[in-house]
Amino acid sequence: MPRCYVGLGSNQANPVVQLQQALGALKNLPSSELIARSSLYRSAPMGPQDQPDYVNAVACLDTLLAPLALLDQLQAIEQHHGRERKDERWGPRTLDLDLLLYGQQSIDLPRLTVPHYGLEKRDFVLQPLAELAPELVLPNGRRIEDLLQACTSHGLQRLNAAESE
Ligand code: ATP
Ligand code: MG
Ligand code: MG
Repeated sequence: MPRCYVGLGSNQANPVVQLQQALGALKNLPSSELIARSSLYRSAPMGPQDQPDYVNAVACLDTLLAPLALLDQLQAIEQHHGRERKDERWGPRTLDLDLLLYGQQSIDLPRLTVPHYGLEKRDFVLQPLAELAPELVLPNGRRIEDLLQACTSHGLQRLNAAESE
C-alpha cells in the first residue's frame, strides 16, 4: 500500500476541534489505515494577514485508494466541515486537507499535483512531517530535514497537551 501524507489546516470555528474531527474522518477512510498523526502546531497566516492564526498537523496513512479517489475523499471531508471555496487565495477556512505525498509518485493532473507544490517551502508542513518521518526523502531526492533547515519561518509553535484538546 502506498504511504501517504496529508496536511491539515484550519483557522475558523475552533480549529483544534476541526482538526481532531478531521483526523477521526481520516481514520474512517475506506481501504485505508491511519498510521500516525503529528502534534498540532500554531502558525501565522500566509497571504492576507487580517485573519486568525492557523492550527496545522500532518497525518500519515496507507491507502489502496487511487490518488484522485483519495483527493475526492479529502474534499468530501472539507465540504462536510463547511469549507466554502471563495475567490480569495489563502483566505480563512474551516478545514484544508492537502495531499502532500502519495508514496514516491509524482503526479501532475489538472486537479492534483503531488508532491504538493507548497511542501518544500512551508514550515507548518515540513515540521509536522519531520516529526512523523525524519528520514523522509522526496521523489526529487531532497530530504525533509534539509528543507526544514532552509525554509522561512511562519512563527510555528507546537501546541501543548492542554491546548490540543
Ligand atoms: P494551497 O494549495 O496553496 O495550500 P489551498 O489549500 O487553500 O492552497 P484549495 O482551495 O484547498 O487551495 O485547493 C485548490 C485546488 O488545488 C483544489 O481544487 C485541488 O483540485 C487542487 N490541488 C492540486 N494539487 C492538490 C493536492 N496535492 N492536494 C489538494 N488539492 C490539490
Ligand atoms: Mg493548502
Ligand atoms: Mg487545499
